[in-house]
Amino acid sequence: MADSFDVIVIGAGPAGYPAAIRAAQNRLKVAIVDEWQNHDGSRAYGGTCLNAGCIPSKAMLESSELFHRAQSEFALHGIGVGEISLDLATMQKRRATVVKGMTNGVQLLLKSAGVTGLQGHGRLLPGKRVEFTAQDGTKKEFIGKHIVLASGSAPMELRTAPFDGRYIVDSWSAVEFEAVPRRLGVIGAGVIGLELGSVWRRLGSEVIVLEALENFLAMADAQLAREALRQFKKQGLDIRLGAKVGGASVANGAVTVKYGDKQGEQSIVVDKLVVAIGRRPYTQGLLGEGTGVELDERGFIKVDHECRTGVDGVWAVGDVVRGPMLAHKGKEEGVMVADLIAGHFSEVNYRVIPSVIYTAPEIAWVGQTEEQAKAAGRPYKMGVFPFTANGRARAMEAPVGFVKIVADSKTDEILGVHIIGAMAGELIAEAVLAMEYSASCEDLQRTIHAHPTLSEATHEAALLADKRSIDTINR
Ligand SMILES: Cc1cc2nc3c(=O)[nH]c(=O)nc-3n(C[C@H](O)[C@H](O)[C@H](O)COP(=O)(O)OP(=O)(O)OC[C@H]3O[C@@H](n4cnc5c(N)ncnc54)[C@H](O)[C@@H]3O)c2cc1C
Repeated sequence: MADSFDVIVIGAGPAGYPAAIRAAQNRLKVAIVDEWQNHDGSRAYGGTCLNAGCIPSKAMLESSELFHRAQSEFALHGIGVGEISLDLATMQKRRATVVKGMTNGVQLLLKSAGVTGLQGHGRLLPGKRVEFTAQDGTKKEFIGKHIVLASGSAPMELRTAPFDGRYIVDSWSAVEFEAVPRRLGVIGAGVIGLELGSVWRRLGSEVIVLEALENFLAMADAQLAREALRQFKKQGLDIRLGAKVGGASVANGAVTVKYGDKQGEQSIVVDKLVVAIGRRPYTQGLLGEGTGVELDERGFIKVDHECRTGVDGVWAVGDVVRGPMLAHKGKEEGVMVADLIAGHFSEVNYRVIPSVIYTAPEIAWVGQTEEQAKAAGRPYKMGVFPFTANGRARAMEAPVGFVKIVADSKTDEILGVHIIGAMAGELIAEAVLAMEYSASCEDLQRTIHAHPTLSEATHEAALLADKRSIDTINR
């Protein structure tokens, strides 16, 4: 007789582990299966986000930004620190320590919630059975009343520039470089490409970013994207738009990348090439014969708005299902599913999922862009408040970017908020909360914001939408 659980979660990334913890909080008997293996062979919970994505990239973004500011900004503050040097080994050690602290934390959280952790491969079989293959190859079968599939995603590979783990690498390897590449090529000017390009640019690489689309940050508000491109170019990121990569080859320790643009055939030679063209849902070895779980044409597990797969008692959450591939989106889906399983009311508000790019300046947005509001035929008004008029931003030596609010000019409902500037990723939380509560522009206008804070820019942008700003000229 197979061991049985109320809930078995496959995948312990930011979608799976919150599902397991919430299910345990709901007094259900829970197991979680995860096969993550680090480059050094060690096992860890936390999935892509904690081990290879969100956390290590932010650790490196923080360190590289400090290095850059020490070089370029300290003198402005009257701080002399002598010659500034880079000890990349120590920086990488700190990155690894941050990651380890986080992944150990997840293990502790699962344990203290009473979740049974199973490190190895999980495969769904018909009848809500899960075949578990341990690290030593031994197999065991478990049965669940509910199964939550949270197997995540994997980096997309370019057929003409396959990963070799040394010269042509994915984003995970690119946060772990042991030396600063003299010349770094990045394919893809999306979130990951820009973040990693920024890290190595700040640490001294010459960075060339090749982007197939003509539009920079096509998913963002166009005004925000224009400002971002201007800032990144100022920082020396060589972003080439409309550059369609034909292939890459490695010879004599260098990578030659061939691409075509309006001028014709081009090529660059770089020391390392990061391929950051997106991620694909990961379902390898996940579904046994006859489970009834279906994939769509792009390989995502098909689910409804409540993450039900259509097979009774089988759910799927996170990067492996439709929607933005974001840790916080997966987390909320995991929690929702665990609550629905327990018979509680729950839902995810897909209209207000924030997006953040952790470059400097940071970029963050939620809701509709100006272009989307226009296309939807909404009568809209806007307030765009610049950080140059914000006292805190000036004191921080960060008078760059703006807060832009798009609101319905008839109903006053906030439709979208778009921020480029220092701490945009933190500032966007206020906009998310406002939109979650269907706040109007006037609600934001009447909310007291501490002075001097960056968040005053959001307050003033709301005022500006009605030409009532105090701190800038109302046009
Ligand atoms: C460089 C980088 C930076 C990023 N930065 C951010 C950021 O700042 N903010 C943000 O929101 N998102 C960020 N992301 C995206 C984020 O990492 C993902 O959205 C998130 O990890 C998805 O969570 P998940 O739980 O769905 O999947 P994953 O995190 O991929 O976890 C899935 C887990 O399931 C395991 N697994 C898969 N199949 C099986 C199986 N059959 N049996 C057992 N285990 C299995 C995997 O080994 C893995 O541990 C970043 C991604 C990258 C690559």
